[in-house]
Amino acid sequence: MSATGTTAPTRVSTTVGALRTALPFILLGLAAIALPLAGNDYWALIATRAAIYWILVSGLNLAVGFGGQLAIGYVALLTLGAYTASILVLRAEVSPYLGLVGAALVGGAAGVVVGLPALRLRTFYFAMTTLGFATIVTQVALAWQSVTGGGIGVPGPEMPAPFDTAWGFYGFCVVLAAICTWMTANIAASRFGRALVAIRDAEVAAEATGIAKPKLLLTVFLFAGAMAGVAGGLFASLQSYITPDAFTFDLSVLFFIAILIGGRGSILGPLLGTIILTVLPEFAAPLVAWSTFLYAALLLVIVVVIPGGIAALLDFKNRKPLQSDRAIVPRPELLGQLLDHMDKHETIALTGVVLAFGGVRAIDGLDLTIRPGEVHGLIGPNGSGKTTTLNVISGYYSPEQGDVRLGAEPLPRGLPQARAGMGIARTFQTPRLIGEASVLQNVMIGGTIAGTGSFVESLLTLPRHRADEAKLTEQAMRALSAVGLETLAGVRADRLQHSELRFMEIARALMLSPRFLMLDEPAAGLSSDEIVRLGALIKRIARCGTGVLLVEHHADLIFDICDHVTVLNLGKELAAGTPAEIRAHKEVVSAYLGG
Ligand code: ADP
Ligand code: MG
Repeated sequence: MSATGTTAPTRVSTTVGALRTALPFILLGLAAIALPLAGNDYWALIATRAAIYWILVSGLNLAVGFGGQLAIGYVALLTLGAYTASILVLRAEVSPYLGLVGAALVGGAAGVVVGLPALRLRTFYFAMTTLGFATIVTQVALAWQSVTGGGIGVPGPEMPAPFDTAWGFYGFCVVLAAICTWMTANIAASRFGRALVAIRDAEVAAEATGIAKPKLLLTVFLFAGAMAGVAGGLFASLQSYITPDAFTFDLSVLFFIAILIGGRGSILGPLLGTIILTVLPEFAAPLVAWSTFLYAALLLVIVVVIPGGIAALLDFKNRKPLQSDRAIVPRPELLGQLLDHMDKHETIALTGVVLAFGGVRAIDGLDLTIRPGEVHGLIGPNGSGKTTTLNVISGYYSPEQGDVRLGAEPLPRGLPQARAGMGIARTFQTPRLIGEASVLQNVMIGGTIAGTGSFVESLLTLPRHRADEAKLTEQAMRALSAVGLETLAGVRADRLQHSELRFMEIARALMLSPRFLMLDEPAAGLSSDEIVRLGALIKRIARCGTGVLLVEHHADLIFDICDHVTVLNLGKELAAGTPAEIRAHKEVVSAYLGG
C-alpha cells in the first residue's frame, strides 16, 4: 500500500515533466504540418532541405554533442549516400526506397570506418581524419567516371507518387526527420546516452563504471553513418541531379555548427540550430554568398554569449536558486536494499607490489588485504603512493612486480573497465562528474552495466529498455536517499557544493552494488559534522558485506571506523595493524600523526 502511495505523485510529476520536455517538439511538429497550408513550393524546398539536414545532424549529434567526438567532415557520408541511392536506382534499377536502404547500409559501414580513428586519436587529430575522408570521397566521385559520371554527375532518384510533388516529398522527409528525432531522444534518455556523455566529460569515471567505450562509440558511428546515408539519398532526390561540387565543405561546417550553437547534449537545441542555419541565408538572398561568414559569426557570438548554446538558453529549470544552507543527512539504514552479499568471502590481496614512474618508486613492495565486511584505512603523507595503490587495483596501472588477486584469481592487468563487472567500485580524489547532467543521471551512470536492453531496443523504447530505465531510476533514487542527496536529484551536478559531489560519487559507486569500494579522500572539504555522518555511512557499507579501502587524511575518521590501517611512507609500509596499534606506533606518531 505504501508503495502505491509514494509512486502515484511521482508518476504524475514525471508525466508533467515529460509533457514539458515534449512541448517544443509538438509545437515544431504542428508548424511542420501547417507549413503546406501557408507556403509556396519554394518554401517546400527550403523546409525539405532542413528536414534532410536534420536527419543527418540528428545522428551526428549523438557522436558530437553527446559523445564529444569532433567528427567534422560529415558531408562525406551525405555524398556517399547520395551517390549510392542514385547509382542503385539508375544502374541497378531498384526502387527509390531500396535505394535509400542501400544508402543507409553504405553510410553505416562508412560511418564505422570514419569513426574507427576516434578510438585512438583525440580531438583535433580525429577531426583531421574525418576531413581527410571527406576529401577522398569527393576525389573518388570525380575520378570514378564510369559509375559516378565524374564531373557531369548522375540524376538523383525520382520518388514515386505520392512523394513526387514538392509537398509530397516534404511530407516524406518530415516524417523521417520526426522518427530520427524520436529515436535519438530515446537514446539520449537511455543508459547509452548517459554513457556517451560520461565518455565526453568524465572518461575515467566512465571506465570505472565499466562503460565499454569502443563498442558504444562504434555503435553510435554506425547509426550516425546510416542516418547520414539516408539523408544523402533524400538529398539526391531533392537536387534531382548530383555532381561532386554539390557537396561543399560549407555543408560539413553547417552540420557541425548546428550542433555547437544548439548546445552539447541536447536534441532540441541542434534541431533548432539546423533549422536556423538552413533557413537564415534564405531570408535575405544577398546573404547566401556570405553563408560561411554568417555561420562563423553566429558561432563566435554563441560561444561568447551563451556557451551552452540554445539548449542552455531554454533551460529554465536550472535557474531557480537552490536552498543555501543545505545539510547532507545520509540514511545508512537504506543501504541494506542496495547491498546484499553477506555470503561472499573473497578478498583483494596485494603482495609485493612495485610500481615506478621514471625514477620515482611510487609503490615499493606493498602488501595489503581488503576483506569483505571490513574497512581498511590507508594513510600516509602526500605523495606516499595512496592514490597510486587505488589506481593499481582499479587497473589504471599494471604493477611491475608482485600481484593483485581477487580471491584466488589474479586481477587482469590493465582493463579498468573490467573492474566494475567484478564488483569493484571507486571514487576519485577529485570528483569526476558530468556537470551538465542532473545529479540523478550522474548516479545512474554508475549502473550502466546493469542494463540488459540493447542499443536498438533503446532506439525504439522497447520493453526491456523501459524496464532498465525504471530499475536504474529506482536504484539511483535509493542510492541518493542513502547518501542524503535525494532532494537534489533533479539539479545540474555542477551546481552542487564540493562536499555534495563527494557523496554523489559514493552514490554512483553504490549503483554497482559493489563487493569492494575504494574511497580516495572522501572527507576532504567536508565539515566536521559531515565527516561524522560520512563515517557512519562508510561503516554501514562495510557491515553490509562490502570490503572498503579508505584513503584519508583525517586521523579521527580513520581511527573511528577502520578495522585495519596501513601507513604508507614513500611507497613503503611504515606500519600496519589495528587503529589502537597504529596510534601507539612511535614512528607513525612522530613522522605523520605529530605529537
Ligand atoms: P598520494 O595519493 O599518497 O598523495 P600518489 O599515489 O598520488 O600519492 O603519488 C605517489 C608518487 O607517485 C608521487 O611522488 C607522485 O608524484 C608520483 N606519481 C603519481 N602518479 C604519477 C604519474 N602518473 N606519473 C608520474 N608520477 C606519478
Ligand atoms: Mg592521493
